Amino acid sequence: MVKKKLVISFPPRLIQEPVTYHLIRDYDLQVNILRATVRPRERGRMVVEIKGDKKNLDRAFEYMESVGLQVDPLVQEMRYYPERCVHCTACTAVCPTEALTVDPSSRELVFDASHCIICESCIPACSYAAIESQF
Ligand code: SF4
Ligand code: SF4
Repeated sequence: MVKKKLVISFPPRLIQEPVTYHLIRDYDLQVNILRATVRPRERGRMVVEIKGDKKNLDRAFEYMESVGLQVDPLVQEMRYYPERCVHCTACTAVCPTEALTVDPSSRELVFDASHCIICESCIPACSYAAIESQF
């Protein structure tokens, strides 16, 4: 079983493509939609967590590429700027997934992008603009 967090981007012509339906029915994958933004006549984006057999996942990637969807790993979406961070730890209190934690020995903030679900709760919590969303 392989688990991946992905950002799937849709050009306007593919907004109606039933992607999650195909991923579940044709490739036997478990799909958890973490976030989605779709505006008429604009690009749509969906953050998903996908679980399944590696072979099926590879086939699903081929399907998504073949229809013209862009698939990127989730880690590219939130940016942490350590040079702006003062390690006040305010953001750790609002992070629901422990993507933001404090190193117990250094007392410095640690950002683990693999746990981030792009909820953006940390952005208003930070007075130093040390975390930004690219979503
Ligand atoms: S966007 Fe949400 S999950 Fe990601 S680091 Fe910020 S608070 Fe945590
Ligand atoms: S709230 Fe901002 S400055 Fe404070 S620890 Fe988090 S990222 Fe750093």
